[in-house]
Amino acid sequence: VIELKHVRKSFGTHEVISDVSFSVEPGEVVCIIGPSGSGKSTLLRCINGLETYQGGEIIVHGESVDATKSRIRGIRTRVSMVFQRFNLFPHRTALENVAEGPIYVKKEPRAEVYARSRELLARVGLGAKMDAYPAQLSGGQQQRVAIARALGMNPDAILFDEPTSALDPELVGEVLSVMRSLADEGMTMVVVTHEMGFAREVADRVLFLDGGVLVEQGSPDEVLGRPQNARTQDFLRRVL
Ligand code: ATP
Ligand code: MG
Repeated sequence: VIELKHVRKSFGTHEVISDVSFSVEPGEVVCIIGPSGSGKSTLLRCINGLETYQGGEIIVHGESVDATKSRIRGIRTRVSMVFQRFNLFPHRTALENVAEGPIYVKKEPRAEVYARSRELLARVGLGAKMDAYPAQLSGGQQQRVAIARALGMNPDAILFDEPTSALDPELVGEVLSVMRSLADEGMTMVVVTHEMGFAREVADRVLFLDGGVLVEQGSPDEVLGRPQNARTQDFLRRVL
């Protein structure tokens, strides 16, 4: 679904992604770990066409991602993103937040979109909160609305950027459990996370990014259990 070939990205003279290559197969869950500033968010933003990149190529569903072109609208309807800070529209209800994209971006019929949006909210455990505004919801509930919204676009893949790191600890589990069930249902997911337990249990593959370099990748057992690279070992010692 997603393929990166020798991708480079700089802000001015500062190279923040250096020659990163990897691919994500349909149904795969890839977790990206790494220290603050290592380029994890930037990498997701490049995949979703929110940032331009200077070298290499990103291919999503056979199409090259080029943030300078209008085609990007197409990419964003195929790959949804869930952010650390839920980014819901504050003056719209949970239901309206989920329905917005399919109606205005994909021009789908209103009645169908609303019916599907209700189902999606029920699926993330918010059947009783459809008419609540974001401010009336807990952080965990808001993030579950954001996940329902991402699903509403019927994406080929969902990118998650530290979806639980802005949450109070007691709310983390409800969001991770929704993500786990999406993974079980075969959703293709790229998840930037500090939740090593989630990565260990749910990821098919773990990527360790440090200083914009993809230092190590492999199964959770390999990368988290038997890291080969000294930088990975050092990072894991600090976070585990
Ligand atoms: P964190 O774990 O803290 O979220 P990260 O791995 O997501 O970190 P990025 O946000 O991708 O890291 O940032 C990578 C590097 O790019 C950092 O050095 C950051 O300062 C720089 N950077 C990010 N966005 C911009 C920008 N818009 N302009 C200039 N530099 C930026
Ligand atoms: Mg980040």
